[in-house]
Amino acid sequence: MNALTILQKYYGYRSFRTGQQELIDHILQGTDTIGILPTGGGKSLCYQIPALLLEGITLVISPLISLMKDQVDTLKEYGIQAELINSSLSHTEFREVIQNAKQGAYKLLYIAPERLETDSFIELMELLPVSLVAVDEAHCVSQWGHDFRPSYRRIAKMIQLLPKRPIVAAFTATATEMVKEDIINLLNLKKPFEFIGSFDRPNLYFEVRKPKSKFEDLKTYITESAGQSGIIYCATRKTVDEVCGKLNAAGVPATKYHAGLGEGERSENQEEFLYDRAPIMVATNAFGMGIDKPNVRFVVHYNMPKNMESYYQEAGRAGRDGEEAKCILLFSTQDIMTNRFLIENGGFGIDHSAEYQKLNGMVDYCNTEGCLRSAILTYFGQEAIDGGCDNCGSCNNETEQTDITIEAQKIMSCTKRMNEQFGSTLVTDVLKGANTQKIRDMRFNLLPTYGIMKDYSKETIKEIISFLIAGGYLALVGDQYPILRLTLKSYEVLKGQQKVAIRRILTPEQPVVHAETSIKQDLFNRLRQVRAQIAKEHQVQPFMIFPDTTLKDMCKKYPSNKEKMLQVTGVGEHKLEKYGDLFIEAIVSYMSENNILEQDIESLEQEISKASKQTTKTGSKDSHKQTYTLYKEGMNISEIAKERNLTPMTVENHLLKCFEEGLDLDYGEFIPAPYEEQIAAAIEKCGTELLKPIKEALPEEVSYTAIKFALCKYKYNGL
Ligand code: ADP
Ligand code: MG
Repeated sequence: MNALTILQKYYGYRSFRTGQQELIDHILQGTDTIGILPTGGGKSLCYQIPALLLEGITLVISPLISLMKDQVDTLKEYGIQAELINSSLSHTEFREVIQNAKQGAYKLLYIAPERLETDSFIELMELLPVSLVAVDEAHCVSQWGHDFRPSYRRIAKMIQLLPKRPIVAAFTATATEMVKEDIINLLNLKKPFEFIGSFDRPNLYFEVRKPKSKFEDLKTYITESAGQSGIIYCATRKTVDEVCGKLNAAGVPATKYHAGLGEGERSENQEEFLYDRAPIMVATNAFGMGIDKPNVRFVVHYNMPKNMESYYQEAGRAGRDGEEAKCILLFSTQDIMTNRFLIENGGFGIDHSAEYQKLNGMVDYCNTEGCLRSAILTYFGQEAIDGGCDNCGSCNNETEQTDITIEAQKIMSCTKRMNEQFGSTLVTDVLKGANTQKIRDMRFNLLPTYGIMKDYSKETIKEIISFLIAGGYLALVGDQYPILRLTLKSYEVLKGQQKVAIRRILTPEQPVVHAETSIKQDLFNRLRQVRAQIAKEHQVQPFMIFPDTTLKDMCKKYPSNKEKMLQVTGVGEHKLEKYGDLFIEAIVSYMSENNILEQDIESLEQEISKASKQTTKTGSKDSHKQTYTLYKEGMNISEIAKERNLTPMTVENHLLKCFEEGLDLDYGEFIPAPYEEQIAAAIEKCGTELLKPIKEALPEEVSYTAIKFALCKYKYNGL
């Protein structure tokens, strides 16, 4: 087997994504590697596939216990032998795992880095035939990154202690040059092959909004995207409580997460979210690390975060599955103040200038008029997108330019008359004509610019000031109490040599929902129910059964048998065996209800019975007769289904076939007596060609099977 066969056979994916093949190939050739791929880029496969192909075992170091458990559960669902070691194991359990590992029971062993802190633990590792050490979230090794983990520093030592040096591969989504060098040095990578993917996430739509009421805007957005899963990040715990409370009051199934909640409540809420019981999570930035939920369709920032690094990481939790997702930032000038406060109180005696600089970068992003995606890419040192991206608030929306040259001149002139010594709050107050003690004391009420913008709201004035700063028309200098200064560009504007225009951001148009897609939405919802049921039984998260992308592909392809099911992306052989039938059943019954390939239902039925695991000796041709025998012995439908390892629907279809063949069968059992007349009338009215109109003419509780039996009866006996 080679890497591609494994991708197809185990994971059910057709082809590799950018970088995966290169990284896997180098690992297999025995070269150390470092892979920097964006979130959702598919880093896990880059070490999981080599793990399956290499002899011995692969150790995976991963920072969070929850993350490890998810990964191991996901692997087990694929039928791959994996186990984890973390602090939750007792000493005996731990020895057992090591013992099994020695005997080759696992291909992958996940280890929490904290376990590496004791030498005795590391010594135990020596017993294992380790061929590859994969370090996930490798930026944790560096103090320059954002999630420094001291225990990551022990990884190099562990590797050194192993009898034979394994291949070492490191992966992360975020690495500046400095962090990358730390990874290479501190993990002791030997002449590593490097693959640095683009930071771009083409499936994410970026937008900055400046709504009058953030909450109303959010509520409207959530109503429009009903049923979708999303995260709402707020700057403070208080805002989280407030927003979540208001959403709940409005009937939105949201849950919350922040450090002020007890551990029990936190993990409970997290679970609600992961299992899609509460599809919306309102949280502080304490939430998200290690959350691999692939179907997050939107991330709304209710407040502007403190820097682009945090923003992109948090927003990047949307659309891990590669499907379209939205990242919306709700900006207000108050957010700048909040962040200043947070920085100022972030630590005593620390130089905060770097943080202020990063905050300014974030404010620039919020005020940019250009392509937002390009702004992100250039911030991270990558190339902007030529001619814009076509998928962000700036590139996509109808926007109107409003000339604000006069307003800009008033602001600049006022700033100058106040000797360029004050911040935007006081300048705004003077422009607005506020009657405060401070203004009177400083005699700013005597300035010709006092009250010159009294018709504008304070918010508008501040918004224009932020915009002028972002465009370089004004400068903000000083850290703790930044003050406004004029720039060269200011003088050009004051002299009338340069005009200033602001874009008014309009809300994007509503997409038109076509009948076709809403039909499919039915099927999608039904498949989701099937998945939720299985997930509950197996006690794993729904996406570990199949991600949304897979269910959507099913909605496209209508896989009505195993062969077709294997063509669906994300369906590998193992999962096909485990879950295929349940999904096939749901799809086939959906097709039948909607008259999709109605004339082929007969052959579809045969295909299902072929696809179902059968214990039959006589072959599928007479399978319905075996069902009939059991029926005659007095078993009901669900008992037969269990006995024969068939789906209840197949059993019903078998019996229907028997009935059609004229075998003796009490159809009364299948045609509910209270509705018999109504059904007959509906058939008279709608004819016998199509099922759906008949079904629609009857009360909901009358099943398709009942109608089919009635049709048979009609054919044989008349009504
Ligand atoms: P990362 O760790 O880089 O953020 P993951 O390894 O969690 O990303 O992968 C994100 C999602 O993409 C997972 O659902 C994974 O199964 C899927 N995926 C990975 N590689 C491929 C591929 N080649 N084709 C289709 N889907 C893939
Ligand atoms: Mg990952």
